[in-house]
Amino acid sequence: MSTPTAIRHRPHQLAYALAVTPLLRWLIAHHSVPADQPWRTGCPVCATALWPAACTPSGQCRTCQARVGAPPYAVELVAVVAFGLLAASGTRGWELAAYTWWSLGLLVLALIDAAVLRLPHRLTLATTAGTVLLLTPVTASASAWWSAIVGAACLAGFYALIHAATRGGLGLGDVAVAVPIGIGVGWLDWRLIAVAAVLGHSLAAATIPIRRMTGTAPSPVPLGTYLIAGSLLIVVVAGVL
Ligand SMILES: [Zn+2]
Repeated sequence: MSTPTAIRHRPHQLAYALAVTPLLRWLIAHHSVPADQPWRTGCPVCATALWPAACTPSGQCRTCQARVGAPPYAVELVAVVAFGLLAASGTRGWELAAYTWWSLGLLVLALIDAAVLRLPHRLTLATTAGTVLLLTPVTASASAWWSAIVGAACLAGFYALIHAATRGGLGLGDVAVAVPIGIGVGWLDWRLIAVAAVLGHSLAAATIPIRRMTGTAPSPVPLGTYLIAGSLLIVVVAGVL
């Protein structure tokens, strides 16, 4: 789907991606704390303020070199790939802005969930609200909006049922993050949410034998991270990214 125009825009997209990664790193480090602790504001070892000391691509505190927040270069790599795919897709205008916001919001949530098994509602809300606001000016048929609404309702409803059936075994954070996932995937085709969910669960299941082979201690699987990965893949394959 690449167009000459899209290719010309790509260097700008990559520059934008690298420009926002320090902020994304700060968001991840700030929110990567257990549910019973206050949001992190400083390095856990030397207490230097997170911004800007712990927002470099290396993921290390500039003062004491301790590892803080997301893994080294992970945010930068994923952001550049996401922006590159967006640029290559030919998507433009408000829809491009909406899917950029959606991708980056979900990237932050995925890395927080991977770190501390938590999906902060404030970030889920910001991702959802920003995506909806940016899609509002898009000249789209009413069916796209209905598809997004149905997608969000079906996916969040499904996980709400699992949350109730497992008596909280599946967290409310996973239920809530199904809303922006359902909107972003459903905007394309609400039926794709089933594919995204199956793919997410398959990715999560695939890590179990890998963990056994590598001798990693058994621990809860960050389902949200895999659901987000599955939804990003589906959107990429569907051609928006
Ligand atoms: Zn430090």
